[in-house]
Amino acid sequence: MIFVMRRFAKWFVMAYNIGMKQKKVLVVGGGLAGLSAVAFLRKYGFETILLEKNDHCGGLARSFERKGFTWDAGPRALIDGGIIGPLLERLGLELPMVPSRVSVGIGNDMIHVESRDSINDYKALLERARPGSKGDVDRIIRRIQDVMKDMDVLYGIENPMIYSPLKHPLWLFGIFLPWSLRFIATIGKIYRFF
Ligand SMILES: Cc1cc2nc3c(=O)[nH]c(=O)nc-3n(C[C@H](O)[C@H](O)[C@H](O)COP(=O)(O)OP(=O)(O)OC[C@H]3O[C@@H](n4cnc5c(N)ncnc54)[C@H](O)[C@@H]3O)c2cc1C
Repeated sequence: MIFVMRRFAKWFVMAYNIGMKQKKVLVVGGGLAGLSAVAFLRKYGFETILLEKNDHCGGLARSFERKGFTWDAGPRALIDGGIIGPLLERLGLELPMVPSRVSVGIGNDMIHVESRDSINDYKALLERARPGSKGDVDRIIRRIQDVMKDMDVLYGIENPMIYSPLKHPLWLFGIFLPWSLRFIATIGKIYRFF
């Protein structure tokens, strides 16, 4: 069954491409969205023209210099919530990843978030800042831990729009379908909270 579905999808894409190949695609805007669109269109054989109004591509995802400091115009980090990873994989690109370090401070008291366990450092930071509020601090930490669990589900798998479930039948049945149930339960929980 999966074999037939894969074959059918391949024929459909081939027929569609043959029909479309005579056409050029004009993409407006060289931000992450436009650049990704062009990369995929070229991969599937379309002729493309990218129009960017500025003298550089990247859109919001760029840095600029002022008075010796480097500032991010938008994103601090590209975080793989199930999209960037499979997208790069499908384009055959390898990008070196660096750890995404964050520092949090209250006054001069600072902690560095290195891993999930850093939540204990954050708890200690709050307790130092508000020594008489242990109950409130515990509640805040429990709420953050709940959100972390929800995020694990929401961003827990490769995005099926990008990952091509038809090419990965084991993933489809072994990971995607069980995840879908957890996803629906988590979304329901989040809606109930609001
Ligand atoms: C403060 C801030 C922090 C963020 N932090 C994060 C983060 O930590 N992690 C993360 O993943 N994302 C983050 N984001 C989101 C991320 O920056 C955007 O989702 C992403 O860069 C949007 O890409 P885009 O291609 O859709 O749009 P844009 O980056 O806005 O690109 C649009 C492009 O189109 C061009 N353009 C517009 N009009 C025309 C026209 N008429 N003709 C030709 N060209 C045109 C523009 O010059 C631009 O280059 C952040 C965003 C902001 C603002």
